[in-house]
Amino acid sequence: PPRLRFAPSPTGSLHVGGARTALYNWLLAKKGQIEFPNSESAFVLRVEDTDLARSTKESEESVLNDLRWLGLIWDEGPTDIPDISGCGPYRQSERGNIYIQAAERLLQEGKAYRCFCTTEELEEMKAQQEAAGIPPRYDGRWRDAPQEEINKMMDAGKPYTIRFKVPEGSRVVIDDVVRGTVAWDAEATVGDFILLRSNGVPVYNFCVAVDDALMGISTVVRAEEHLTNTVRQGLVLDALGAPRPRYAHCSLILGEDKQKLSKRHGATSCNQFRLDGFLPDAMINYLALLGWNDGTDNEIFTREELIDAFQLERVVKSPSVFDMEKLRWVNQQHMKMLPLNDLVELVKEQFVLEGILKDGVTTSDLGVVNMAFAATALSRERMQTTKDAVLGAKKILGYGLPAKFEDLKDEEAKQMIKQGNFYGLSQRILKEYDAGEFPLPNKEDPMAAFQDAIGEAMDKSTPCAFTQSYQAHMKNMAKEMGVKGKNLFHPVRLALTGEMSGQDVTKQLSLLAMATADDSVIDAKK
Ligand code: GLU
Repeated sequence: PPRLRFAPSPTGSLHVGGARTALYNWLLAKKGQIEFPNSESAFVLRVEDTDLARSTKESEESVLNDLRWLGLIWDEGPTDIPDISGCGPYRQSERGNIYIQAAERLLQEGKAYRCFCTTEELEEMKAQQEAAGIPPRYDGRWRDAPQEEINKMMDAGKPYTIRFKVPEGSRVVIDDVVRGTVAWDAEATVGDFILLRSNGVPVYNFCVAVDDALMGISTVVRAEEHLTNTVRQGLVLDALGAPRPRYAHCSLILGEDKQKLSKRHGATSCNQFRLDGFLPDAMINYLALLGWNDGTDNEIFTREELIDAFQLERVVKSPSVFDMEKLRWVNQQHMKMLPLNDLVELVKEQFVLEGILKDGVTTSDLGVVNMAFAATALSRERMQTTKDAVLGAKKILGYGLPAKFEDLKDEEAKQMIKQGNFYGLSQRILKEYDAGEFPLPNKEDPMAAFQDAIGEAMDKSTPCAFTQSYQAHMKNMAKEMGVKGKNLFHPVRLALTGEMSGQDVTKQLSLLAMATADDSVIDAKK
């Protein structure tokens, strides 16, 4: 049965590349569980914390949290679930004895040996090789040492490492699902490498091979950067008598400038995407497309559809480019699939993430529900993330608004915002934006009249009544002034948001009315 593993090193947070690796493994495991019900098919989470200096508990916790958020739930792993298969522990730092036993077994079987070289000797060896222009490699000087000599050193209590005896003439050949046949002349690639250091600490590649063997891993999907590790791991697996898993080494993910994706390209950590208002299902969908397609034009997949459609054989060898616009679009498609109420829930959560709820206000507060509804209604047609809805609302409510007005660095403009002097404001912006782009209603002071009407309505009405009276005002004004459509809406919107085109003015005003009616919910200053 398909047994897959995700093996993060807890030395940082989960990034796009790691999340894609986790996803591909998870998809194959889930597919396996459908195809082979009641089998031991599993998605195993193994924490590779052998690098004690760089591994931290916080990092492990954050990686696990991101996996939980993405819904990539492990069947076997260090926490959250009992160890039914008995393959645990699932942290390499807790498997020390297992590695020591494995090394001792190889020692007994003559597949490994003790090496008593001191650090100085090894350094000298390296220096000589470098001077001779040959690649530095352990020269095997203890490989065939006579037993008496070894006993002598042991009796003298000399420290030793356990080295792997690379079999003469051995080759490691893998049929990588993504890269095709890859072959190494093992002897030419690696010297007799260390399995256990003299302090009993196992070496990374040894741990991975032992774990893949004992955990019965059938397919290893991981990043291309681990390809060369396959030589050592393959040799150890052979020596342990364990079947080699099938390997699939996925190509890099690049930024839009075709350089390896990194922080300079913007958000790359899963947690950042969560904070930025992306849905886990959309993330999963987009991550799947980073290096895979189902052979059709189909780009939107639910989780179940992905499990069904995903095939390792269709993972492409060329590197993929992370495209933020595409991710936003995919997210939008997933948001459109959600029932309105679910969307409102998410927008509510986003209020929390943005930290704009007033102290003591929680998402169960009716005012928050109303605001979330209004914010969702306002942005539903255009928003690509739930954060867009919050930003749209913030703009109307005056927090973000002034991104543009701040630019004015103009006290007068800020004063106008404070006073709700929409007319003055729109005049002001018009000047700044070098008006002319659209004609203001040509009656004398139409916006002032409008502003008065709105102000009055907002003071006296409930949000619902306000919306109705607002609509009536707009109608009246259109009639009185003989302006309609965008000649009316644009200046109003401009006055409200600083943008000429954008969301539905009616909805913008409803939100404003809502906020005015219940100003105890959202903190305008945050
Ligand atoms: N621990 C490795 C990493 O985080 C993964 C190694 C593997 O998948 O074999 O990059």
